[in-house]
Amino acid sequence: MNHSCLSCLPGPDQVVDYQAKVVNLPKHFRGPPASGNGGVAAGLYACLGAGTLSDDVAQLHVRLHRPIPLDTDLDFRIEKTGDSKRAVSVSQTKTDVLSGWVSSTVQEPLMTDETLSELRSHSVLSPQQQSRYDEYVEVPGPSSVDFAECFVCGPEAKLGLRLRLRPVTDEIFWKDWYPDHRWVDNGFLAALPAIAALDCTSAAGFHLNGVLGEHESCLLGTYDAQLGPAAPLNDSDGLRIISKTRKREGRKIFTDIGLFSPNGTAHVLGKATWIVVSPEVAKGG
Ligand SMILES: [Zn+2]
Ligand SMILES: [Zn+2]
Repeated sequence: MNHSCLSCLPGPDQVVDYQAKVVNLPKHFRGPPASGNGGVAAGLYACLGAGTLSDDVAQLHVRLHRPIPLDTDLDFRIEKTGDSKRAVSVSQTKTDVLSGWVSSTVQEPLMTDETLSELRSHSVLSPQQQSRYDEYVEVPGPSSVDFAECFVCGPEAKLGLRLRLRPVTDEIFWKDWYPDHRWVDNGFLAALPAIAALDCTSAAGFHLNGVLGEHESCLLGTYDAQLGPAAPLNDSDGLRIISKTRKREGRKIFTDIGLFSPNGTAHVLGKATWIVVSPEVAKGG
């Protein structure tokens, strides 16, 4: 085991129980009101990978098959599929909830070099972009009301990250982030919150930039993450979450997102596939 994050230790934030071979998301790790957060689910793949791979996790892929039950023991299974790769599945009474893999080598780049440099170029904002950010006033909508207690973006989530991205250009959504010290792992930001922070934040612009219609919402379908150097904690300059919608194809929306330091270091890159559903389905109604 080459890490010791809060989600892997006994306590209120514990998600993984290695001895019992179960994962269990406490209620504050919700996304929709009654089911687990997809970003936390993806983040726990990094925990499970750290427990089974001999080198650091470099890339992971997670597919969400159904809403993740909260406060419920879910079995996990890890299978060796290569020297540096493990298949990981999470199930409830033999029905897949999550499937995917973790690898200590990069299998394929998540985004083009062009997209990566475009995201990275916003690690520091121009004065014009900064004032657009500062002056932005969010109108309450489905994402802040229906998901008010979402661990990642919910404005009412007391134990959550409360990350609300804002547009800094017509295409780039952005937020600076000063993670709480409880998310420490060996002096750095733990992988689970770092990956989770790039979940629904990647969907922040969907209504504003028109990829989602007024009566549409979405659910996370798959999530890919590529991990760079662990992000610092206690850095007065903080971190940057930078996102750009790639495209919508029918009922699928693809987005690119990254967690950067102001010096441009990419700590986590994410690629999310969202599935368009009705607002009722999205909030689990
Ligand atoms: Zn962990
Ligand atoms: Zn959210």
